Amino acid sequence: MLYDNLEIKNDRLFFAGRDTVELAEKYGTPLYLMDEERIRENCRSYREALKGCLCPESKAIYASKACCFGKIYKIIAEEGLGADVVSPGEIYTAYKAGFPMENAYFQGNNKTDGDIELAMDCGVGYFVCDGTDELDAVDKIAAKRGAVQKILLRVTPGIDPHTYDEVATGKVDSKFGVAIETGQALEAVRHALSKKNLSLEGIHCHVGSMVFDSDVFIRSAAIMTEFIGEMKKILGFEAKILDLGGGYGVKYYDGQGEIDIPANIRLVAKYVAEKAKEVGVKVPSLRLEPGRSIVADAGITLYTVGSVKKITGYKNYVSVDGGMTDNPRYALYGSRYTVLTANKPEPRETLAADLVGRCCESGDIIQPAVEFPADIGRGDIVAVLTTGAYNYSMASNYNRVPRPPVVMLSGGSDYVAVKRETPDDLIMNDVLQLFRGI
Ligand SMILES: *Cc1c(COP(=O)(O)O)cnc(C)c1O
Repeated sequence: MLYDNLEIKNDRLFFAGRDTVELAEKYGTPLYLMDEERIRENCRSYREALKGCLCPESKAIYASKACCFGKIYKIIAEEGLGADVVSPGEIYTAYKAGFPMENAYFQGNNKTDGDIELAMDCGVGYFVCDGTDELDAVDKIAAKRGAVQKILLRVTPGIDPHTYDEVATGKVDSKFGVAIETGQALEAVRHALSKKNLSLEGIHCHVGSMVFDSDVFIRSAAIMTEFIGEMKKILGFEAKILDLGGGYGVKYYDGQGEIDIPANIRLVAKYVAEKAKEVGVKVPSLRLEPGRSIVADAGITLYTVGSVKKITGYKNYVSVDGGMTDNPRYALYGSRYTVLTANKPEPRETLAADLVGRCCESGDIIQPAVEFPADIGRGDIVAVLTTGAYNYSMASNYNRVPRPPVVMLSGGSDYVAVKRETPDDLIMNDVLQLFRGI
């Protein structure tokens, strides 16, 4: 199986030791299931790799956009990770969940004055500033409060991470950060240092997502550490923190590339330590910002099959009760997934069909060309694997489809971490004179 928390037993798919068909009956579908222990294990593997590394007091920061709800922040805090937050919604969720906000890092390429105020009200530890406009805005609001705000500056090292264009973020012409190559990053550092209400702690980059090429992080570490040397030489400023962002890839299907994350982290840390000595600066403390690799393999999605359409001589469709509303990743990026039929996981005869959702869009495809059991039909339970990252967090209410619940599996028990949306949730913000009772 793709991951060791998946298993076929009694002709059923088991996830985190639990019968998925029984869970579909208990909670209904569509249903997001999450393996709490797997999230914790993934956190620990980052923590251990960084604990023994050559860069002092290094830390992993969970990029919460990968999957964001209250319970996740509790788990992350218990496992000793910081949190990346990118919007007022994520900040508010983390704050309300009791997350230690001094370990929160506020990311994003356009923070409004309102966002900045909210982040300061909630005590966000670090702002990752994206450019000189933002440095001015944060400085001004901090000054008004008589505060000094710790910041990192996001720079672009000019790296092509060899991943999908939509998730490549470290190239010179990216909408994120300030470019080292054009000299603008150094100017932005000079600018930050001139601000009385900003305390520049270091620099940040994030080159992209779904990175399997083990060289990518070494190449960005090289450019970033050289830049730390340049800042010291030209401006006399020594960065305490080097944040290399997130982006480690995970496996969605057999035969896909793999990367040994802990081994790569140790390699990168050793490289940074050596390079820092070479350019004559103190070894910086590392930050890594994993999102996908913390939660992806901790999640699967279950659906119930409705109509099965066979267009003679053309193609076949298996329609389920969810779709691009709970998983837009194929529609957005053409992302591949492994799909199994949870109640018939090892069919002898198969039928090739596109797995499609219920929305009024031809593009509402969860996955094309899936091998289903030949007798697939109404009532069967389909499982899409590795949906813990960028599924629930990207879900929408298109066609006014309610979002599925998130059910956590933990030590043989199960509990609801996010409730299923109801029709009343969907009309909650509609302003009407009178709602008809039904
Ligand atoms: C998206 C993002 C991450 C996480 O990326 P993953 O590929 O999910 O690990 C980390 N840092 C920043 C700034 C991001 O935008």
